Amino acid sequence: MPNYLSKFMIENLLMRTNNIALRFNIRFVPNYHSFWVVLLAITLSSCSFFEEEVIPILEDNSNTSLALGNPSNARASFLEPNNFLIERTEYALSYNNERGIPNWVSWHLDRSWIGSTDRAETFKTDPFLNNDFNVVSSSDYTNSGFDRGHNCPSADRTRSTQSNEATFFMTNIVPQAPRHNQGPWKDMEEFGRDLVFEGNELYVVMGNFGVGGTGSKGYVEKIGRNSNVVVPKYIWKVYVVLPEDDNDLLRVDESTRVIAVIIENTNEGLKAWHEYRISVDEIEDATGLDLFSELPFFVQSALESKIDDGPVN
Ligand code: MN
Ligand code: MN
Repeated sequence: MPNYLSKFMIENLLMRTNNIALRFNIRFVPNYHSFWVVLLAITLSSCSFFEEEVIPILEDNSNTSLALGNPSNARASFLEPNNFLIERTEYALSYNNERGIPNWVSWHLDRSWIGSTDRAETFKTDPFLNNDFNVVSSSDYTNSGFDRGHNCPSADRTRSTQSNEATFFMTNIVPQAPRHNQGPWKDMEEFGRDLVFEGNELYVVMGNFGVGGTGSKGYVEKIGRNSNVVVPKYIWKVYVVLPEDDNDLLRVDESTRVIAVIIENTNEGLKAWHEYRISVDEIEDATGLDLFSELPFFVQSALESKIDDGPVN
């Protein structure tokens, strides 16, 4: 059950309990019945049922990678290797074992993440994956014609060496056409950080779908030692932009800026990133994912159907 719904229901219930107690109180005062009514009210309000229900609802889930939702209900279960949840402080992702790349990666970006750490360049296998998995290594990308394309960018995680190195686990990487990675994609990443330096914070989701891209050596469907890494056909990204503040989930409404793009994974004929803006609905239709599932339904539909036309530099 979404938090906002259960919170509403509990508040309603508490309100009604208070009202009933109040009404009985007035009606029976100074009759001895009021004693029992007050006792009942005290018992109800202090019983563990209410405490257990209320405490997690008041918890602020903001500032976490999955605050706006888990787009594929990924779980850290070996029974679902193609929707395998990996959660770190820096990001959360759903790994697709068959494809050797993430389905999506989700993270939160505010000023506190950005420091002065140098780019670690420590591409390595992800220790979350045991040997039953298709464990992709950096060498699977060597001479492939594709960049090791970050989902959560190195430059979004420069607070410490450890957090920067976390972006270099191969589960955060997709084969990305070099001009795609170093062109529109890099520009969109930099635009995101510009928004943060202007006083905003972002919720970001990046993912991919389809098979086959055109890198520096032409069209390729799979790379790697055993063709174990799929080259995605399309790469997408979504920014949710909020002025920097607390209680982020509660501040998202129909007017919140949402920027979404889908850009074909190719080295040829690329345009500026903002020329590719589309709606989140298009990403959901193409991938079967459900973004923003933690938002109230009417906010979710409003945000997912619009196409951003805001300033882009
Ligand atoms: Mn990149
Ligand atoms: Mn959705």
